[in-house]
Parts: sequence; structure tokens; C-alpha cells
Amino acid sequence: MTALTRSEVAVIGGGLVGVSAALGLAALGFRVTLIERRQPVIQKGRLGVDLRNVAISPASQALLGRLGIWDHVESAAYSHMSIWEEWGAAQLGFDAADVGRSELGWLVEMSPLVCAGWQQAEQVRRIDGVDRAGDIDIVLGNIEALSVTQDNVDITMLGGEHFRFDFLIAADGAQSMVRKTLQLPLLQETMDQVAIATVVRTQRTHQNTAWQRFLVDGPLAFLPTWDDHLCSVVWSQSRTQAERRMQLSDSVFCGEIERALEARLGDILSVDQRMMLPLAQQRLENCAPVSRVLLIGDAQRVIHPLAGQGVNLGLEDVAGIMQLAASHRDLSAPGLWTRYARERQTRSKLMIQSLTLLRRIYANDAPAMSWLRNVGVGFFNQFDGLKHQVMREAMGLGRLN
Ligand SMILES: Cc1cc2nc3c(=O)[nH]c(=O)nc-3n(C[C@H](O)[C@H](O)[C@H](O)COP(=O)(O)OP(=O)(O)OC[C@H]3O[C@@H](n4cnc5c(N)ncnc54)[C@H](O)[C@@H]3O)c2cc1C
Repeated sequence: MTALTRSEVAVIGGGLVGVSAALGLAALGFRVTLIERRQPVIQKGRLGVDLRNVAISPASQALLGRLGIWDHVESAAYSHMSIWEEWGAAQLGFDAADVGRSELGWLVEMSPLVCAGWQQAEQVRRIDGVDRAGDIDIVLGNIEALSVTQDNVDITMLGGEHFRFDFLIAADGAQSMVRKTLQLPLLQETMDQVAIATVVRTQRTHQNTAWQRFLVDGPLAFLPTWDDHLCSVVWSQSRTQAERRMQLSDSVFCGEIERALEARLGDILSVDQRMMLPLAQQRLENCAPVSRVLLIGDAQRVIHPLAGQGVNLGLEDVAGIMQLAASHRDLSAPGLWTRYARERQTRSKLMIQSLTLLRRIYANDAPAMSWLRNVGVGFFNQFDGLKHQVMREAMGLGRLN
């Protein structure tokens, strides 16, 4: 067993949320150790775009800018959003100009974004043997044991290395090892939906618009990339349908997805490899279960991708940590995270409840429901104040009240 190293904060998980937390705390002068299984790499599909893309809100973009990540990624701004449904004529449109902005958000390829975060972290990497405040040490490998006591957090790696920390931030994703080790109860919604994620080439340009059609079986989103004719697709649907669609030839799949979008972007000319991703909605009751541990990002909550808010919520977790850590040296001080945890819980709960309601409303093809949707959407479209408030909320620029 190698010598025990003492450091202030461990961040487990080097996805976008974890690496952002590490950078944020290092910028505030904390000594941080980022632990991740493997170094991330840039992944591109056949059409030249990563198959995993994320919609980044203006609030997240501002944070990524502060952390030095944003300037190193290619992003595609979108300024409109067009939403309609399978059964009924209800149409919703959002325009950035309505709230005095030039964009609603940006679509960014996930792996280059995470790699840009790592590049930043490597620049503030700790030089071997020199333990300085504001540095990030990166540890790659698998964790064998984790124990949290009143005084310390101890982590042993599979190779025998042993570390001791004052505080632990778990950003280790939906299947969080930290959550399981600490046996933290999870509130889960049973959902037999999965998503097919891919990239398609379209005949017409995407017009910097995020297109979303609510099908009875689940929402289909076409999100604009940096290429006017390439869209990132997230198609949520029942597992049975997804398994069938994964087996289709590319040309038959293109035909199905073109019909599903009512050919709003013309013919679907080609499709990249398809990925089937499990969907879940789950959250922790308490993201600060003991004074030395905080769980953030997907380790804290997982939401349906239909609103494109998962990673944005995770980055909000990071912004909140930075706010508190700016004025507190001892992150494990009793009660420090109580209010933060309560606020994050409320936010996750409201988001999950809203997305569940939205999915249920649109999954109902009864004529009465279709009529109700039309009335509701018509009402919503007439009240600019309400619509603008919802837009600001989705952009991370203000809370619904
Ligand atoms: C189809 C789909 C579309 C989406 N679209 C959007 C979108 O448009 N906008 C948006 O905001 N969100 C979106 N999301 C959600 C978003 O992808 C997630 O919220 C986000 O990736 C979570 O980031 P994270 O860093 O918390 O977790 P992850 O990205 O899961 O990262 C966790 C990291 O922890 C590491 N790890 C796990 N266990 C260990 C361990 N034991 N030791 C060391 N390291 C470990 C993993 O290797 C990984 O790197 C989408 C999700 C899906 C499924």
C-alpha cells in the first residue's frame, strides 16, 4: 500500500458535472483530487458529429465560460423552438427575440465538451509531490473501497493507493457507486421508455430551430448542430418500439423518422449509428446525507431528456457549490449544506413532476384530452408574460414563481 496522501476535496466522476466542480473549487483555492475510471476521448460518428449532444442553457454557458471550458468547444446556437403534437393541432413556438436575446441555448457535442473540461483540469494539475492550494490532482482507476467517518473520507484504489480527504463530492452518474455504498434511498419513477439517439442529415436546413414533436409513444426531438443540415436526434419511446427500430435498415429508419417529424425538414437523407439509451426519473431525498459528502449531477437526480435539462441542473449544482465555497474554507462544517440540499431537492422534485405531467398529457390520445391541450396551449400562447417566464426558467435565467 502506498503512502497516505491528505487532500481537501475528492471529486469522484469526471463527466461534465464532476470536472466542472473540480475546476470551480480549484479556482477558489481548494486542493482537489478528481477520480475517474478512464481518461475521456473525443468520439465522432460517421457523419462527423458525436452521437451524444447536449442542449446547454445560457446560465450553464456562462458557468462553463467562467471555468475556461466554453471557448474550447464548437457550439451551435439555436434561437427558436417549435413544438407540436401527433394528435391535435396544438402548436407552441418560442423565439429568443421575445425575451430580448439572440439565442435560447446551444447544442454542444458531449465528448469534446468533457475533454475541454479535462484539458483545463490538466492545466491546473498538481505537480508530483507538490501539494499546492488551487491545484487538481487526477487519479485514474477503479475504486476498491470507500469509507466515510466523522473525521475523514478514505478511498482505496484497486491498485492499493490510499487517499484521505476532508470532503467528498460524488459526481459519478446515474448508477452512483457512492450512493450505493452509503445506501442512500432513491425515489424512482418506473418508466418503460428508452431513447434512440443518433444524428441525421436532412434535406432542408434546420433553421437554428429545436424541433420537438410529442408522439403518443414519446417525444421526438431534432436539435440543430453546427452543420445546417445535420440534426442530433433524441427519440424517446417504448422499449418494444425502440428494439424494433434498432433493427431497421438505415433507409427504412430514415423513412420512419421522416414521417414521425411530418417531413418538416424535408427528406431524411442519411442516419448515423443508432444508440439505445435507458431512461429514468429518480432523485435522492437528501443530496447532503452526512456533513462530509455531497452528491451532484446525475448522481443526485436523473430526469427525462425531453426538456434537455439534465446536465444544466448538474451545472446549477456546481454553481451553488461555488457560491457557498467562496465564503467557507471548511466544506464539512455541520449544517453548511442543509439549505443548499433543501433547495436542490425542491428543484429536482418540481422538474421531475413537471416532466411526468407533460409526458402524461401528451401520451393521452383521447379526443377530450386533445381538445384540452389545444385550449391550454392557446391560452398559454396568449399570455406573453407567462410564456416568457417559462422561457427564462428553461434558460436558467430566473425561477418560476
Ligand atoms: C438521450 C439523452 C439526451 C440528453 N440530452 C440532454 C440535453 O440536451 N441537455 C441536458 O442538460 N442534459 C441532457 N441529458 C442528460 C445529461 O446527459 C446528463 O444529465 C449528464 O450527462 C450528467 O452528467 P454527470 O457528469 O452528472 O454524469 P455522467 O455524465 O454520467 O458522468 C459520470 C462520470 O462518473 C464516472 N464514474 C462512475 N462511477 C465511477 C467510479 N466508481 N469511479 C470513478 N468514476 C466513476 C463515469 O465514468 C463518468 O465519467 C440527456 C440524457 C440522455 C440520456
